[in-house]
Amino acid sequence: MNGAAPEPAPRRRGVAPRDDVALMEGYYSPQIDVDVRLNTNEAPESPPAAFLEELSGGIAGIAFNRYPDREAVALRSAVAELHGVGVESVYCANGSNEVLQSLLLAYGGPGRAVALFEPTYALHSHIARVTGTDVLAGRRDTDYLIEEGELERVIAEGERTHGGANPVLTFICSPNNPTGRVEPTALIERALRRAPGLVVVDEAYGQFAPSSALELGAVDNLVVVRTFSKTWSLAALRLGYAIAAPEVVEALFAVTLPYHLDALKQLAGRLALSYGDDMAGRVERLVAERRRLVAALGGLAVEVCPSDANFVLFRPTAKDAKQVWGELVDRSILVRDISTVPHLEGFLRVTIGAAAENDAFLAALRASLA
Ligand code: PMP
Repeated sequence: MNGAAPEPAPRRRGVAPRDDVALMEGYYSPQIDVDVRLNTNEAPESPPAAFLEELSGGIAGIAFNRYPDREAVALRSAVAELHGVGVESVYCANGSNEVLQSLLLAYGGPGRAVALFEPTYALHSHIARVTGTDVLAGRRDTDYLIEEGELERVIAEGERTHGGANPVLTFICSPNNPTGRVEPTALIERALRRAPGLVVVDEAYGQFAPSSALELGAVDNLVVVRTFSKTWSLAALRLGYAIAAPEVVEALFAVTLPYHLDALKQLAGRLALSYGDDMAGRVERLVAERRRLVAALGGLAVEVCPSDANFVLFRPTAKDAKQVWGELVDRSILVRDISTVPHLEGFLRVTIGAAAENDAFLAALRASLA
């Protein structure tokens, strides 16, 4: 045995995270092991088998000893082609969450403010706070849409409290997570005319909706954010993008780490885009399932919010939401419990799954509410 004294444990430094960071709760959705996962709005199906085969074949061609294309030109060109824009208008990142983070790194920061309309996707305000950006939170109306008067009020507040260029970003989540409805195009146009900064339309669920801000074409202060996580069945890949004016894309690159998109991801994202027809078919099936699920919920003791996305918000009217959530988990079905989110008290959110998963959910919900 070696008699040498053990190495002293390294001394813990008294350093703490920034006060405002320490106070923040991380974004959290429980990953419970269940048979039917309807809590994070993923696609129920794997990507097409032909895509997976093509991807496997392509891996051998990757020069793994080399850094990947720093500007991801082939991937960005494929996205550009999909949307009929130039490659200089496309920015890709590791999930649309990272796109949102790049926007806040480039345009947010101390002394600056962003506008958003609650209840909405929690990461908009969360990333804003992480980047030291002030958050001006407006309210959605009783249908969870944004009223023009409220849009005007929040923008005017930003100008008054933070100066003329603020809010630097106005976030419009459309369809809105977790409530589900798409904003009318007129509201987006109004925001584009009125906002002093960029209008960021988060269209993570855009393909499920009847309209998109992309239909407005190139507008210099419009940024549309999309993801491969839902329609493209590639949540595990972590890939999202923004369509924006070339100056905006340049600013986003300026705050991005070198080689942030690995070569495998660049290849997978590019290949996925050649399966557009398969994906369109999946969206159609999910929209049909959404209609079926909403109709079935109509016969139960729940309030249901109209949805243009791949999820539905509902509120049990005769039973405590947390109890319903627990009884669904007991039957191995996981939905999202948002019953304690301000303005959404008592609500649960269910992702549209495959037909059998939706049936299992409906049966378990019926049993819980019986
Ligand atoms: N925006 C919205 C509105 C979302 O709901 C999500 C996923 N929950 C994202 C962005 C992030 O998606 P991802 O990072 O997987 O692209």
